[in-house]
Formats: sequence, structure tokens, C-alpha cells
Amino acid sequence: MRLIVYSKGLYSTWLYYAPDRLAFDAGEGISSILGNKCFAIQHVFLSHGHADHISGLIGLINIRNSGMGDTEKPLTIYYPKDNWRVLELIAYIARTNSKLSYDLAWIPLEPGDRVELFQGQNPRYIEAFRTQHTRSELSLGYNIVEVRRRLKEEYQGLSQEEIAQLVRERGREAITTTYPQKLFSYGGDSAPIDPELVEGTEVLCHEATFLNPEDRETPTHSTLEEALEVAQKAGVKRELFIIHISSRYRRELAQVEEKLKGLDLGFRVVLVPPGRVCRYD
Ligand SMILES: [Zn+2]
Repeated sequence: MRLIVYSKGLYSTWLYYAPDRLAFDAGEGISSILGNKCFAIQHVFLSHGHADHISGLIGLINIRNSGMGDTEKPLTIYYPKDNWRVLELIAYIARTNSKLSYDLAWIPLEPGDRVELFQGQNPRYIEAFRTQHTRSELSLGYNIVEVRRRLKEEYQGLSQEEIAQLVRERGREAITTTYPQKLFSYGGDSAPIDPELVEGTEVLCHEATFLNPEDRETPTHSTLEEALEVAQKAGVKRELFIIHISSRYRRELAQVEEKLKGLDLGFRVVLVPPGRVCRYD
């Protein structure tokens, strides 16, 4: 299992991304549904301060303090800088949890900020980017980025043997160059994301509250058509997950998904059914 998603438009949204032990948003139900897996979470990245994306933090922070697991394991929560709704929640949690058994850190982020996930041969980091949701508050999306290595252009036509020889003579670093590869991009609630911000990502998670554009009254949320356009412009490599779907479309989902399969998009589209816990490999 790589990903657990729960997303019901306007009610609750949260994702658990197992490879990096992190959650994107923390709507209602995150702790009761994840159960003991709550203890695996090391980082939570909040996209914005609306209740359906942050209300599960109260339960998560509490269970990490009193549940059956490592109650000393630190937890770090990242949020859009100066977001007043998140700041109110931080104050409430501080007042009601004065003696936590673990270190709880709150880190404000701005667009362009990076958070290191791990070092190593292929280091990974999170990069925050700006989304368009509420006018008065900062909202953020996040890219999980892996730093990869490839042969410098001038060596690309060489045989395996020649390359091995060069590595022996000059070392791997001298003949290779690094490049960032976006593995997973999460947009939270937003009008269509600027495709440049998620360009070339392997997996894009974009909201589409509305499958039918005529149902939209305010421009703070996206339609399915818009999300597809973003993914195409960004050149998504593998999958587009559609989250935050309004429950009014529950019965049409299978039909819409079937229609999408017929299109030649270059990536698979997964409509996350509202109100169901979904696990994806
Ligand atoms: Zn929202």
C-alpha cells in the first residue's frame, strides 16, 4: 500500500503517503480510520485552514499521546504561514495539551520553501507552492521531489563498459548530473493549479469538486475538465487522482471513469469516491 485517501468534498479530506510517512491535510476521521498507523506519521502538510482539512488534527495529536504505540515519537506539522485558522487551532491545542509525551512542532511555510525528507543517494524533499483558494489566506500545495542522477549528455551514447571505465577513472559524480523529479504533487483545495508548478510530476492529486461545470457557483474550486487540463499541460506521467468530489456525483462516478478510460491522456485517472476510504498501490 502506497497511499490511503479519504476525501468527501466539504466534509473531510486527508491522505496518508506511506513511502515518506507523511500526511497531506488532516480532515475529520484521520485518526479513527488510520488507527495504529497514526504512529507512522512523521510529518503533516496542511494545504489551508478550512475545517474539513484540519479538524482531524485534534484527534491525531491526542491519540499520538495516549494510544497504543510509540508515544514519544515526534510529530511535525507544516502549515501556510500566518493562516489565522491554523493559528487558532495551534493555540487551542497548546492550551488543551500542555503535557504531551512527544515533541510537537508547528512550522510555517511559504511558497518555494523546502523541507528535507531524507538524505542519501537519492535525497528527497518537499517543496511548497501557492494554490488559489481563499482570497484572504495563504493556501499551499506540495511536491515530493526526488533528486536523481543521470549521465551527462556528452556520455549518453557510450556502452556499459565505457561508462564503467569512466566511473573507475573519474568517479560517478564527474560524469553524471543531478535533476529533480517530482514524484507526487498535492494541490489541496484550489482553482486550477498553475501547470508549471507541477510540471512533469509522476502523480498529481488535484481537486475537482464539480464534475459538471454548471454546478459551480464560486471559483474557489475546480471542475473535472479543469483538473484534466492541468494534468495534460503539466505532462503528468502516471496518474491523476481526483479528490474533493462532491457527494452529489456518487452514482455517476463509475460511468465517468469509464468514459475517461477511452481518452488518450497519457496517464490514468482515478476518481476518489466521496466518503470511502481508498487504498492504492
Ligand atoms: Zn477549503
